[in-house]
Amino acid sequence: MSILVVGSVAFDDIQTPFGKAERCLGGSATYFSVAASFFTDVDLVAVVGDDFSDRDMEIFRGRRINTGGLQRVSGAKTFFWSGEYGYDLNVAKTLDTRLNVFGEFRPQLNERQRKARVLFLANIHPELQMDVLHQTERPKLVALDTMNLWIATKRDALEKAFSEVDLVVINDAETRQFTGETNIVKGARKILDLGPHTIVIKRGEYGVLMITRNSAFAVPAYPLENVFDPTGAGDTFAGGFLGYLTSRQEHNDRELRRAIIFGSVLASFTVEKFSLDRLREITLDNIYERYRAFRALTHFEDFDAS
Ligand code: AMP
Repeated sequence: MSILVVGSVAFDDIQTPFGKAERCLGGSATYFSVAASFFTDVDLVAVVGDDFSDRDMEIFRGRRINTGGLQRVSGAKTFFWSGEYGYDLNVAKTLDTRLNVFGEFRPQLNERQRKARVLFLANIHPELQMDVLHQTERPKLVALDTMNLWIATKRDALEKAFSEVDLVVINDAETRQFTGETNIVKGARKILDLGPHTIVIKRGEYGVLMITRNSAFAVPAYPLENVFDPTGAGDTFAGGFLGYLTSRQEHNDRELRRAIIFGSVLASFTVEKFSLDRLREITLDNIYERYRAFRALTHFEDFDAS
């Protein structure tokens, strides 16, 4: 089983209270692919400019990531994002977004990509997300992520996109922005009413809330002493979550809950260093070990009323 992803591959300038990094590797599809590839084969659809070097490509090598769908456009620049965080690391302030090569990007999926069983529409222009979805033979599971920029500038396209997917991954501030509800449970219901059967709300250091039409599941974030750079945590979460799910036969409640923990574990590594630096170092054993620590952290017994 493999997962198809479309999203950004980027260079980021990042400033946090703990330091800054310039022109480091980033992008929604980059974080997602690396995280998902710990569990499953990933087919990446994205575009870069000729400023994306062979060294930059190294992040994908030696992993279960097929980069056949990563186009390189000569004479053009890679997507660029610049963001800043204050002491509240849950809030990213965008300083600059340059779509560059993504302005003209119209991918043509090949036969294998059209037949994908699972599709992740990582954060990028919602019309591009839909263009990719409409070229497929409707995967068994289609999930979508987005951000405040698209909610503010492409609302109609985004609403249409929500109505065509099974699962939405979104953060709490975006849920409020899109629905106008301050209560995120009410906001989640409004998004479910558009069509998806599941919504996963990322709440930064407060963890994750998953809501379906008849169930809810919540976990905290893994408590870390050193959070360095939250960039990519959301995409990494989605990669761990959907990568694990793709590797399973069943997508039942039990597997969905495990997937939420794997997503949270992967995201907890990403924030420990800038860019993808921590993800580059870890192994599946590190992931399994933190999964078990997470289980111990959240485990409690039923009470005895007698
Ligand atoms: P997050 O997981 O939400 O922290 O995502 C961070 C990544 O999203 C960064 O590496 C950026 O390159 C990328 N990004 C930021 N803005 C956009 C956008 N408008 N479209 C696509 N990707 C973006």
